[in-house]
Amino acid sequence: MKTKAAPAVDGKGSALAGRAQWVARGVGCYHPIVIESAENARLRGVDGREYIDFAGGIGVVNVGHRHPKVVEAVKRQADRVLHACFQVTSYPEYIEVCRRLCEAAPGNFAKKAVLFSTGAEALENAVKIARGFTKRRGVVCFDGAFHGRTYMAMRMTGKYKPYRPDIGPFPGDVHRIPFPYAYRPPKGVAPKDLTAYCLERLEQLFQTDAAPEEIACVVVEPVQGEGGFVVPPADFLPALKQVCERHGILFVADEVQSGFGRTAKMFAIEHSGVVPDLMTVAKSLAAGMPLSGVVGRADVMDALGPGGLGGTYAGNPLACAAALAVFDIFEKERILAKAEKVGETLRKSFDRLAERSPFVGESRGLGAMRAIELVEDKKTKAPLAEAKMKQILTACAEKGLLVIKAGGFGNVIRCLVPLTVPEADLARGLEILEESVLALK
Ligand code: PMP
Repeated sequence: MKTKAAPAVDGKGSALAGRAQWVARGVGCYHPIVIESAENARLRGVDGREYIDFAGGIGVVNVGHRHPKVVEAVKRQADRVLHACFQVTSYPEYIEVCRRLCEAAPGNFAKKAVLFSTGAEALENAVKIARGFTKRRGVVCFDGAFHGRTYMAMRMTGKYKPYRPDIGPFPGDVHRIPFPYAYRPPKGVAPKDLTAYCLERLEQLFQTDAAPEEIACVVVEPVQGEGGFVVPPADFLPALKQVCERHGILFVADEVQSGFGRTAKMFAIEHSGVVPDLMTVAKSLAAGMPLSGVVGRADVMDALGPGGLGGTYAGNPLACAAALAVFDIFEKERILAKAEKVGETLRKSFDRLAERSPFVGESRGLGAMRAIELVEDKKTKAPLAEAKMKQILTACAEKGLLVIKAGGFGNVIRCLVPLTVPEADLARGLEILEESVLALK
């Protein structure tokens, strides 16, 4: 049936009404703001207002919005090849991104990589590769984890609402254990015993749910992202790796959010000294172009035969050109040193806020992957009510700062500011955040 012609969305006043009318409501929306342009750590609204961006497109622009070298690389690539499909013909940019990923990933062994477009796809394929190599089916993941919105990635995600109601069934052979979350340990477990507790639960899982020789891989975020920037105790990842080695289980590190300098190392797993068998990457790999990948042990990566991996758009030439620029920017502009400095400024500001505000239960993080967890009461740790969280986010936006939430209760404010943020923007952003949190009654 033909409907009456609708007015075009002009990008100004009618854009949000257009969103409500034409876009499925299942896509969430943190801020009722329509943007027209972006540069480094700033977004500009269609109404001319500027915002300091602490969301970074959810961790995608660690080298800033529209870094000139990324823009130039994409433009140059657009003049040569937009799309070829790597399954049809090779192009050097794809191969070079794989080489750079293999060089950057931890581990002194032969490595290979494969490219996709989204983080969820990288996770799906890491599991396929791990199962193909081990000839086992089981996957172990964690409470509070986030791995994406495709069916397998969603099944591996350790938060039920809003992702999973009404849309089952989900793939099987996925098992879950607690993640060591020191601010909210299980009743009766001291924070210092968290690693032992979580690993006991894994042993228990081996007894009650799936034998270890049926488990293909453990998939873990070295620092949980959507889960609320939860940093595990220092002994946790090494101990988990030991269990994996004992049973021939592959260790998969999901670096989609924590990678590319966010924690002041190229990959967060490097802080632990653990060398993963496989690693998933996406987001800041290509600074805004859709690109993801799996990188790891060459013998594991080669488990699936030709045709077993790929995708029409996987490893698109424009996205690969952007990623190559990102690798150069990391080297030439000392992004990791910048991340360390940004992280220190965030830590000081968030620690101060935790002292001054009765609602900031914890300031935590690693490098520049830092967050505050908000509570109604520091003793009971009851999560801050949703309306009050909204009040903070709205107050920030009104003053020109965009922040986003995380955490199982949506009560964590996380910072994913570009690591290239000018000092003045970072200082002003933190001032706005402090004011908005301290205004809470
Ligand atoms: N893994 C992690 C750790 C993530 O943070 C995300 C996205 N927030 C994903 C996977 C999924 O990535 P995408 O949204 O690109 O599918």
